Amino acid sequence: MARDRFGREINYMRISVTDRCNLRCMYCMPPDGVPLISHDDILRHEEIVRVVEAAARLGISHIRITGGEPLLRHGIVSLVRMIAQVPGISDVSMTTNGCLLGRYAEHLAEAGLKRVNVSMDTLRPERARDITGHDCLAQVLQGIEVAEACGLQPIKINTVVLRSINLDEIQDLAMLTRLRPWHVRFIELMPSWGAAASLDPGEVVPAEEIAERLRGLGAKPVAANCNPGGAGPARYMRLPGSKGTLGIVGSEDGNPRGMCERCNRLRLSSDGKLYACLFSTVAVDLRDMMRSGASIDELCSAIRGAISNKPRYGRDPGSARNVRPGTGHGGASGGRPALAEIGG
Ligand code: SAM
Ligand code: SF4
Repeated sequence: MARDRFGREINYMRISVTDRCNLRCMYCMPPDGVPLISHDDILRHEEIVRVVEAAARLGISHIRITGGEPLLRHGIVSLVRMIAQVPGISDVSMTTNGCLLGRYAEHLAEAGLKRVNVSMDTLRPERARDITGHDCLAQVLQGIEVAEACGLQPIKINTVVLRSINLDEIQDLAMLTRLRPWHVRFIELMPSWGAAASLDPGEVVPAEEIAERLRGLGAKPVAANCNPGGAGPARYMRLPGSKGTLGIVGSEDGNPRGMCERCNRLRLSSDGKLYACLFSTVAVDLRDMMRSGASIDELCSAIRGAISNKPRYGRDPGSARNVRPGTGHGGASGGRPALAEIGG
């Protein structure tokens, strides 16, 4: 089991398998997209699996596959299968926008994917078009149904709340949990990330305001040992008699400390940079190491180094310090990661 110097057990790695996306959510991707990483610079399947093998030796047991949109990655089903077969990996999940989920869910489940988080900000088709730039709601809803039928459980739905766009839908979205065993998580907008930086700051609806609205609907807190979130950042509530739960995910831009204290995560970008923290701008370049012939022991040592240098709090000055083991030099700076790559 890997522990950082603050005693946190690190057992979870979030892997971005692509920086590409087929949607342009108004808070994430600018309408013209972002500069794309060249294909040669993106980790190949075998390289991703090698990182997972090294991480699993250190006690990482949970892998979340994200993007960009992970279902756009060529060969995603084989990649999931390869990851799920790594000894020590007990849980493989995915965060997706759901557009292609109906097509892939059965194959993904058969390949070893356990569960999905699906992003869905509205139940109104025109709004979905306004938010994402595409007419995608029917496909997303169908994707969720197919995923559930294929046993990808629990199903979590991620909803970013925007004051002038979908705040009035909290009740409708919450009601989904009454009849379906779905977990609808309301996410506070991170205003400084991605395309959100160009939105009016007034669009942010603080987590506490979301919680207040849910309480107004009769929702009650769920005991920590009964929530579907594990060590994740959401706190959960439930409407009386409902099958699913309601989650609230506060913005790391606001008060990150509670989240940081429970953080169990590492993050691998699609071009092979390992970050010990969502907000770190300093990374260990595992792609560079692998392409220079690093052994699995050297990869383990680099990952161990990242874990032991994990900052206590993501936003503290100097939190991004990291040393690439074996060189004594500071780790490669990946620059600020594109938000499309870090969410999940
Ligand atoms: N494309 C996939 C999807 O949409 O689920 C995976 C990547 S996406 C970046 C992961 C999550 O980040 C989504 O649930 C999305 O809603 C969330 N997200 C993106 N930008 C955000 C922002 N500015 N504030 C809060 N959450 C954001
Ligand atoms: Fe794409 Fe996900 Fe970002 Fe929306 S939130 S633009 S689906 S990466």
